[in-house]
Amino acid sequence: MAKERLYLFDTTLRDGAQTNGVDFTLADKLAIAGMLDELGIDYVEGGYPGANQTDSELFAKDRELKTTFTAFGMTRRPGRSASNDPGLAALLDAKADAICFVAKAWDYHVKVALETTNEENLASIRDSVKAAKAKGREVLLDCEHFFDGYKANPTYALACAKTAHDEGARWVVLCDTNGGTLPHEVEKIVGEVCKVIPGDHVGIHAHNDTEQGVAVSLAAVRAGARQIQGTLNGLGERCGNANLVSLIPNLLLKPEYADRITTGVTRDALKTLTQTSRLLDEILNRAPNRHAPYVGESAFAHKGGLHVSAVQKSPQTYEHVPPESVGNRRKILVSDQAGRSNVVARLEDAGIRVNAADPKLARLLDEVKEREFGGYSYDGAEASFELLARRMLGEVPEFFKVDSFRVLVERRHDALGNLKVVSEATVKITVAGATMFNVAEGQGPVNALDSALRKDLGVLAPYLADLELVDFKVRILTKGTEAITRVLIESKDGKGARWFTVGVSENIIEASFEALMDSIVYKLLREKAPVPR
Ligand SMILES: [Zn+2]
Repeated sequence: MAKERLYLFDTTLRDGAQTNGVDFTLADKLAIAGMLDELGIDYVEGGYPGANQTDSELFAKDRELKTTFTAFGMTRRPGRSASNDPGLAALLDAKADAICFVAKAWDYHVKVALETTNEENLASIRDSVKAAKAKGREVLLDCEHFFDGYKANPTYALACAKTAHDEGARWVVLCDTNGGTLPHEVEKIVGEVCKVIPGDHVGIHAHNDTEQGVAVSLAAVRAGARQIQGTLNGLGERCGNANLVSLIPNLLLKPEYADRITTGVTRDALKTLTQTSRLLDEILNRAPNRHAPYVGESAFAHKGGLHVSAVQKSPQTYEHVPPESVGNRRKILVSDQAGRSNVVARLEDAGIRVNAADPKLARLLDEVKEREFGGYSYDGAEASFELLARRMLGEVPEFFKVDSFRVLVERRHDALGNLKVVSEATVKITVAGATMFNVAEGQGPVNALDSALRKDLGVLAPYLADLELVDFKVRILTKGTEAITRVLIESKDGKGARWFTVGVSENIIEASFEALMDSIVYKLLREKAPVPR
């Protein structure tokens, strides 16, 4: 049986741009469009030309993309003609391969929000589709609030969809705008729609308000819809849109869909999915979600000793798909539950070969257990674990030595009576036999200490030039009657590498210092920096 084609439509740049705290620049939008194109996404919705400067510039640009680059906008306003609507004109003039109109499909909204009649709304859909077709554009209609509208007045909701289809729109997209419709309801309603409009002209646009954006989209596919709209990493206002990064592997790897359906994303392109997801986070300057299905750092992480030995004999024992299929990798976590097999596997992960009978291995295992009892956690701090192991194996040279440090925090009023809090750190460092004092100010004591540490490391400085601290997490642990501070630092460099280091102490500055030092030494090792002499 020939497989049916399912089309993927990405709206990261339009609906995804509604996310709290997300503000794409023109360069961001171009970079993301390129990524989506590489991945094999059929439609990329770039934005809303005429609505803001960035989107207008984006659509004025020439592109070399295989994808159908789509402009989004409203149907003509009620009571105006299509030729006398500046919003529609901007949309029709945009350099786009396709136009996706949005129109109300719920009679309640037509009355209350648009303040017009049902007939005028249908006429607006008809005129807008006609005008875009006349311009030679492929046309899509997003039926806003379709499912709520269908429940209230199925005849009218269907009439909106059918009007666009009859006028020649390539796709009619059923939107669950409020994101509250459940998968079984969507499956039933889409099934009804597909009796009137062929499923290969029907799309689904779901939001994630019940955490079922992906499930709702798949339910629509089961009922016959052949276009899915979604965003990378589920970006979108409120709880986000349907997450394409989860949808794509479900469609390609689960036989229920893979046996019946093909998409524009090849199995080879699927192997770049993890990278694509993380690149988006990089552009947004956010830490990737470790627990994201398929692509998260923890998606194929194994912790308990028994799991680990089983997964090493046969990965299917604890993995639903091979991690490599989505470009992710298996990860063996080190923890106080760890058996010897965890530690060996984790070391191999870091490229360290140790004979299982090596007595150093038993010492390392004891050391890890003792430290975890003392408050360390190496689950989230692979770089510190690798350093600990390499130190025990004698593989970490002393690049430099910190003889002492001092951190001052001063709270005072300046001459104008304004309150000032100033942090200053002094670090005494020996590099290649030469001692130096580095002094730096910072926004806080840890920032000052970090600046002073890295201010002048002599010949080592070039190897650290692109080192950047991304995140700093503090956790207070109670051990018996004592409070202990654990600091976890995330660092990155200009080559896109990210690593996590940990420090533990009764004193927050000392814990931070330890995590900072690990980060610096880890970076020097990565760079294969020479030991200064
Ligand atoms: Zn939406």
